[in-house]
Amino acid sequence: MFKTAIIIGAGPAGLTAAYELVTKTDIKPIIIERTNDIGGISKTIVHNGNRMDIGGHRFFSKSDIVMKLWQEILPIQGSDSKDDILKDIYYQKKRTQVKLSPDGPNPEKTDRVMLIRNRLSRIYFLRKFFEYPITLNGKTISNLGIIRIIKIGWSYVWIQILPIKKINTLEDFFISRFGKELYKTFFKDYTEKVWGVPCTEIDADWGAQRIKELSVSRALLHAIKSIFKKEKSIEQKNTDTSLIEQFMYPKLGPGQMWETVACFVEEKGGIIIKNSEVVELNIVDNQVNEVSYINHTTNLKSKVKGDYSFSTMPVKDLITAMGNKVPAIVKRVADGLQYRDFITVGLLLNKLKIKNETSIFTLYGLVPDNWIYIQERDVKVGRLQIFNNWSPYMVADIEKVWIGLEYFCNEGDKLWKMSDNEFVQFAINELHSIDIIDKNEVIDSAIIRMPKTYPAYFGTYSQFNVIRNFTDKFENLFLIGRNGMHKYNNQDHSMLTAMTAVNNIISGEKSKDNIWNINTDEEYYEENAD
Ligand SMILES: Cc1cc2nc3c(=O)[nH]c(=O)nc-3n(C[C@H](O)[C@H](O)[C@H](O)COP(=O)(O)OP(=O)(O)OC[C@H]3O[C@@H](n4cnc5c(N)ncnc54)[C@H](O)[C@@H]3O)c2cc1C
Repeated sequence: MFKTAIIIGAGPAGLTAAYELVTKTDIKPIIIERTNDIGGISKTIVHNGNRMDIGGHRFFSKSDIVMKLWQEILPIQGSDSKDDILKDIYYQKKRTQVKLSPDGPNPEKTDRVMLIRNRLSRIYFLRKFFEYPITLNGKTISNLGIIRIIKIGWSYVWIQILPIKKINTLEDFFISRFGKELYKTFFKDYTEKVWGVPCTEIDADWGAQRIKELSVSRALLHAIKSIFKKEKSIEQKNTDTSLIEQFMYPKLGPGQMWETVACFVEEKGGIIIKNSEVVELNIVDNQVNEVSYINHTTNLKSKVKGDYSFSTMPVKDLITAMGNKVPAIVKRVADGLQYRDFITVGLLLNKLKIKNETSIFTLYGLVPDNWIYIQERDVKVGRLQIFNNWSPYMVADIEKVWIGLEYFCNEGDKLWKMSDNEFVQFAINELHSIDIIDKNEVIDSAIIRMPKTYPAYFGTYSQFNVIRNFTDKFENLFLIGRNGMHKYNNQDHSMLTAMTAVNNIISGEKSKDNIWNINTDEEYYEENAD
């Protein structure tokens, strides 16, 4: 008889675990997925032919293994994509060069292709655009005004002379890195929009993990280096992750990657049970031997036995599902874990009000950004995705503009509970009020609510080791992924945790330390928020 592995969740981590099992072992994976979709947070939603990416997922990693796997599944484009072809035909303007793969597929002829996209993200503040990361150039000075610039410069020098002795909170972290004035201008409001709590209540760990190496000096160094040398290869080994200039992106959005992996897993004998939520893990001694799930259509409860279990479900829910054998202290810490939730509003427009005033040539004068951080204090919207610039195939009619407005909230709060119509109207009014769109240009809209997108580094997070020490004792249970480990893991780290867990099974490694160490030891950091 073959062995089986139960995998909770069909997101990047669960699917990578299944992929590794079917390619490297004879263990049969059975994935149980709560929703009807594949890809978890990294899925693509289709609305009237237009595709939404929840968050804007760059496919980029410092890990060669991950980069290679992505390209094996979706090979890099060998010919121009639709937008570049149009730029050449109608405007006789050459696009910004991307390095095509000599034998790669043609995105005009096949869907199974990975695009290489140029990255641009800017900050919208005081109804003006600022470069990300903030660069000290003539435009920044004129946008901010000389008084603010002097204050920023002075407070940066001040903190270098008198550094903060003990960095406890995220506010301490930001101030010691950037000075008080730069923190107040560009980091405080946005970060508090994302997390819904003051920076003084967030552990400094968040900064250490997410923006480890971003500093004023590194940003300046990068700006100088990029004047002299443009890195053409997609690996961008010498570039910090926050500052990469190109990234890979599946032609049809991030979900395409995971739908392709799911098909492969099924072809190789794996099973995917959708619309079914894991509610109980049966634990005996130091083993998980059975998992129960409820099918949301039939409401029927079923049980499945497994030799191994991989969990990508939120740690809080996992501990609840482990039932009354869980020690009270573990239960208390798990109950106190907090999350931030997410609402994306998709808007289809004839055109935007903001115009392209950069030197980058774009179709129909569209701004060239992939996403824009909305730093304005008078609106709740946090970020704006311009899906046309992620892939021209995300939008059904390339002459229209398809954007995503991102709101950070808490499940059950005022924003979360607004009706769909009310919310969409609220979102349209916000963008209209800050001069990004004219509300009369909106043609279509969609809304997606996504719970638990951000595992929070506050609440009982500082006692997380209590949970880890408990779950690590279960030899055949592997906590992997983002919410699965309550860690700020991106796709690549989520995948690496899955790969390491499978390798541990193969090699007989009992310790889980190497799984927990991913995204801790490595050279990695991210920007503002995902
Ligand atoms: C706004 C935003 C932007 C991001 N941008 C990037 C980026 O640019 N690049 C990048 O690489 N990463 C990015 N990420 C991170 C990326 O989305 C995650 O790292 C990745 O999706 C995590 O994969 P996962 O499988 O661990 O979890 P998830 O994607 O959360 O998948 C978990 C799955 O488990 C299912 N599930 C949950 N509970 C149960 C249950 N009880 N029973 C059964 N199934 C269950 C869920 O429905 C879900 O499908 C971003 C994230 C966000 C929120």
